[in-house]
Amino acid sequence: MTTLADLPLRSDLVGRTAYGAPQLTVPVALNVNENTHPVPADVADDIVGRIRTALLEVNRYPDREFTALREALAGYLGAGLDASWIWAANGSNEVIQHVLQAFGGPGRTVLGFPPTYSMHSIIAASTSTRWVTAERDADFTISPETAVAAIERERPDLVFLCAPNNPTGTPVPLETIAAAYDATDGMVFVDEAYGEFMPADAPSALTLLPGRERLIVSRTMSKAFAFAGARVGYLAADPAVTDAMRLVRLPYHLSALTQAAALGALAHAPEMLRMVDDICVQRDRTAAGLAGLGFRVWPSWTNFLLFGGVEDPAGLWRALLDRGVLIRDLAIPGCLRVSAGTAAETDAFLTAIAEVSGRAPVGSRP
Ligand code: PMP
Repeated sequence: MTTLADLPLRSDLVGRTAYGAPQLTVPVALNVNENTHPVPADVADDIVGRIRTALLEVNRYPDREFTALREALAGYLGAGLDASWIWAANGSNEVIQHVLQAFGGPGRTVLGFPPTYSMHSIIAASTSTRWVTAERDADFTISPETAVAAIERERPDLVFLCAPNNPTGTPVPLETIAAAYDATDGMVFVDEAYGEFMPADAPSALTLLPGRERLIVSRTMSKAFAFAGARVGYLAADPAVTDAMRLVRLPYHLSALTQAAALGALAHAPEMLRMVDDICVQRDRTAAGLAGLGFRVWPSWTNFLLFGGVEDPAGLWRALLDRGVLIRDLAIPGCLRVSAGTAAETDAFLTAIAEVSGRAPVGSRP
């Protein structure tokens, strides 16, 4: 059998591992921070109508500038942005790739703060950008001083901040982002994939954009909009940054069908986002349930939770899977991550973990 070792692979990819969250068909899938609530039927009907219209013209290339979509995204974000500040791609993973293609590459470095979203370092590798890391403070936080010290030490071309952070759920204060920006001449990329799950009064890094032309804030429709399968991510940044994106994207990278579907979803934004509140309720229920079983739960501003105090993460992960509940083992010692689901999925997870961990709720212990 031919293996990678038999191929003339680029030397800097030798020994790398691909993104590999297991994709399994299980009754309760809480492993990749999806929105487990389906798209409402009336929204789906509208989207199907729009896709039908687009399909009748797919003999032509789509609008390469996805102008209507950029306008709709700017309108959705508000913050005084117009379409010239918006870029979009097939998921925010592709947005990250465009950013690293334009501002990273051979001889350049990107600074990250693990544990963080695994694709940041994987896309760094695939774009030949060197991934350098710095320690977080206690409880996975990053203070302005910690960010500045790491930037002064590493002098990176890009700084990646995941805010709130995956897989820990930890927020990043705007002071940290602003201090990081001031400490570097490079690009500062803030991944706000979970931005809509932040407390309503918590300011987004979008508010920092005016006057900061090296700051990029990315978002996705995969999480709050329940649109992971449609693949739509986007960023907001100075129009000069979107011009840089045009240098590296493939022409017509956003299909006409994707653009039509995303426009349909955005036209129903309030209805699509109605589930966000319930997801946060289920997240907090899950946190309380886990804490009640004696696990350590980190505060989360996202649709998932990192919990610790797990003696055998791989064993617990497997035992839950055997009961039809799939969560995520990210190889963080003593920890597992679980996404917030529907009320029924939350019940199923909490029941299963109480059974398989052999723990009784705190307070009811003998
Ligand atoms: N950023 C973060 C922090 C994520 O957790 C994810 C998905 N898990 C993404 C980006 C990528 O999402 P997508 O490509 O679906 O937009």
